[in-house]
Amino acid sequence: MKKAIITSIAAAALLTGCGSSGSDKLTSIYEAPEQTSVDPTVDRETVFQVSLLQGLTLGDYYGSVTVKDLKGKGDIGIGTFEGVNGELIMLDGEVYRAFSDGSTEKAPDKETIPFANVTFFDADSEEKLSDIADIGSLKTMLDEKAAKLGKNRFYFIRIDGSFKMMHARSELKQEEPYKTLAEALSTDQREFKWKNIKGTVVGLYCPEYMNDLNAVGWHLHFISEDRNLGGHVLDLSFDQATLSIDSTDGFNMLLPETKMFPTLDLTKDQSEDIKKVETQDAEAQDNETQTAE
Ligand SMILES: [Zn+2]
Repeated sequence: MKKAIITSIAAAALLTGCGSSGSDKLTSIYEAPEQTSVDPTVDRETVFQVSLLQGLTLGDYYGSVTVKDLKGKGDIGIGTFEGVNGELIMLDGEVYRAFSDGSTEKAPDKETIPFANVTFFDADSEEKLSDIADIGSLKTMLDEKAAKLGKNRFYFIRIDGSFKMMHARSELKQEEPYKTLAEALSTDQREFKWKNIKGTVVGLYCPEYMNDLNAVGWHLHFISEDRNLGGHVLDLSFDQATLSIDSTDGFNMLLPETKMFPTLDLTKDQSEDIKKVETQDAEAQDNETQTAE
């Protein structure tokens, strides 16, 4: 929740105006400094969301915001690309795409995005985590932290470490006419399991009241330390890692100008479907039709 310090920028602007005189020069005092690329008025404590996850799950895969514009809204985040062409991981200001084979690229600035959440990451706390056996125990532990900090805020996290096991997924690019996300993933989800891989988990916690706008609880993506591998996290384990938490107190959602969005029926409760597409791996789907051993 650290506030951006813009005093130094303002002071620089005043100094620029110092040597000048006359009323025409006076206005120059209030001009923004030319050399800075970061908008000093940007709210670093707001989660910016492109569209609703519920729009994406209905098949609105049309991009509405460019990678370049998304970088103006945050430096950490998760999402996907036009046509659900891979999983989006934003970390340290760079946007990566994890393809359906788990490999990654730096996403081109002109690529467009149908759904994402980003913020500017200012860690409010940092701590060591140890002995996490699976994603269930990680989420339980994170839920306890969210409950303690206040369950009705948004939290962005990063977990840096060496992961004993990382089970992630991405998906094949979809072609029009777009199917629902559940249908698309039932055939086009691809999964990867890596062992002893260093990297960073990027995660977002959405409060319960976000049920109609996003996935409630924790949504985690992964990118390797060498930035060559990544995806949407289905499971993981680790001995030691560092958890950093950024608590945010604002929410800003952009309603997309896509051809599908204006007429989408967003009245249906999709929470069960969303839980499935967010958490289910192909093995679990297979197991549903098998008898227990
Ligand atoms: Zn995801």
